[in-house]
Amino acid sequence: MLETPNYEFWFATGSQFLYGEEQLKSVEKDARDIVDKLNASGKLPYPIKFKLVATTAENITQFMKDANYNDNVAGVITWMHTFSPAKNWIRGTKLLQKPLLHLATQYLNHIPYDTIDFDYMNLNQSAHGDREYGYINARLHKNNKIIYGWWGDDDVQKQIADWEDVAVAYDESFKIKVARFGDNMRNVAVTEGDKVQAEIQFGWTVDYYALGDLAKSVDAVSESDIDKKYDELKKEYTFVQGDNDAQKFEDSVKYQIRQYFGIKSFLDKGGYTAFTTNFEDLYGLKQLPGLAAQLLMAEGYGFGAEGDWKTAALQRLFKIMNHNKQTAFMEDYTLELQHGKEAILGSHMLEVDPTIASDKPRVEVHPLDIGGKADPARLVFTGAEGDAFDVTMADFGTEYHLIGYPVEAHKAPHETPNLPVAKQMWTPKVGLEQGAHAWIENGGGHHTVLMFGANREQQIADLAKMFELNFTDINEKYLNTHAN
Ligand code: MN
Repeated sequence: MLETPNYEFWFATGSQFLYGEEQLKSVEKDARDIVDKLNASGKLPYPIKFKLVATTAENITQFMKDANYNDNVAGVITWMHTFSPAKNWIRGTKLLQKPLLHLATQYLNHIPYDTIDFDYMNLNQSAHGDREYGYINARLHKNNKIIYGWWGDDDVQKQIADWEDVAVAYDESFKIKVARFGDNMRNVAVTEGDKVQAEIQFGWTVDYYALGDLAKSVDAVSESDIDKKYDELKKEYTFVQGDNDAQKFEDSVKYQIRQYFGIKSFLDKGGYTAFTTNFEDLYGLKQLPGLAAQLLMAEGYGFGAEGDWKTAALQRLFKIMNHNKQTAFMEDYTLELQHGKEAILGSHMLEVDPTIASDKPRVEVHPLDIGGKADPARLVFTGAEGDAFDVTMADFGTEYHLIGYPVEAHKAPHETPNLPVAKQMWTPKVGLEQGAHAWIENGGGHHTVLMFGANREQQIADLAKMFELNFTDINEKYLNTHAN
């Protein structure tokens, strides 16, 4: 489900005719060597293709136009091997509509003191060539990424890899389509937003559907598909019948499987990659989708509860960036406020994404105590440990704000035998008190996307910059510049 086109990145190296044909051949040879070795490193999620020694405004402009209309090109990477007069880059750079990475590097990582001569100096001018070029990107407010350092170093290659994932997420964002099954939960403020602005800025299509239309799709699912999936899930998860009689348990699980297929076929028919539900609006459905929503999230669909289409789209966006690994719709649920143990316990009524499970999820059936529908089946599990980032998006009327913080995620220190939902705990790295205080002060809501990984903070900052999206990152630097 999380399929994307066979994306690639195009590489151009800047030069000029001043130094003669021989020098230009060396420029191309070195650039091809860098590209080949980057591809061979095994670190990049998407390949790079060498395309151009950029020498004139004409060939640069054509290159950028070609990059724009080729759908499998996710972005452009540039490097100035020699001085490349930057007026040549103005037209093409202005036309480029895809993410741009300026790789400020040099072919050799050292100065060859014994052999260096003026031929070497003419050929290897990145030190000042990358500055001449960078000036034009800065002046054009290109919001491009700059990575500075030797291309053969591990950390530089890792930065390129991370940026590729960000660029693909950016490109794919303009294809995200959210189906809203029902409207937003009544009276709730933070899940609202300007859908037109979301489509202008992020490319998200957000469409409403009446529940009756979805109910038809759910009712049309065949019994044999349901039985087959039931047997598959029995192998994948632990079925816990609990206090339910056998028939009720099976019926409840099978009804969620019916919903899973019904929602999935509805989404796929319309090209939707994310969806929302609302427990207040379940006309024609017997249960709130729980297990159904969890199975869809596991496959890469974005989800938002209570009609929260912003978080549904955001989850889909970050699932693309993170290759659907450990990226969950989440809600701040309850707090541990004892000194030294401060943490948030995150969960939801049912719909916690099993990509963050650290144990084998159990399928359980319990009453929901809200919404007045039949007891829904859901996956119950414990979340994961490690570096993570928690982020939310709010509409402030005049602009969207992304608000987040780096967190240390951990497992609950005790069993919770009476809590029949999946749970994940985390503590903001700046501390719960300071972090949550700043979150609330900035108007961040309770629905978030929690994603694991050590480099997410930089990636989210880069992505926000591409979208020209206001991003408040509540980290040490934030606290040092914002007195409470
Ligand atoms: Mn909620």
